[in-house]
Amino acid sequence: MAMKRLKPEGLPPISEKAFQSQVIDLAKLFGWRVNHQRPAMSKNGRWITATQGHTGFPDLVLAHLERQMVIFAELKSEAGRLTPEQEEWASVLIDCPGLYRCWRPSDWLEIERILRGSTGDPDDVESYLGIQRRG
Ligand SMILES: [Mg+2]
Repeated sequence: MAMKRLKPEGLPPISEKAFQSQVIDLAKLFGWRVNHQRPAMSKNGRWITATQGHTGFPDLVLAHLERQMVIFAELKSEAGRLTPEQEEWASVLIDCPGLYRCWRPSDWLEIERILRGSTGDPDDVESYLGIQRRG
């Protein structure tokens, strides 16, 4: 489902790292549990994220108890592109019951709407997203 993007005209560019901090802060504000695996510097000075299994996993996993929702979010700057490994994860997660999104700074209104819930009613967000509840 293609979402309409805001044009980032007039907005200063923002790094993925700064954008990620904003999304995490907003998610926590609205009661989401958040996980992000940070890379660490290896002995030879390279930045690596310790991974067992497939690389390219989305930046954030967001889970909300009351809303019974899970979101896998890959974050990018406006010009950032998915790596082939990130595309692989996207192609699998997009068809899973959770929600997969690749978010950029210009998606801020959608991010806020999803994380807040437009009326606080989880069904409202789900209908906005076209999610069918199972069971
Ligand atoms: Mg990213």
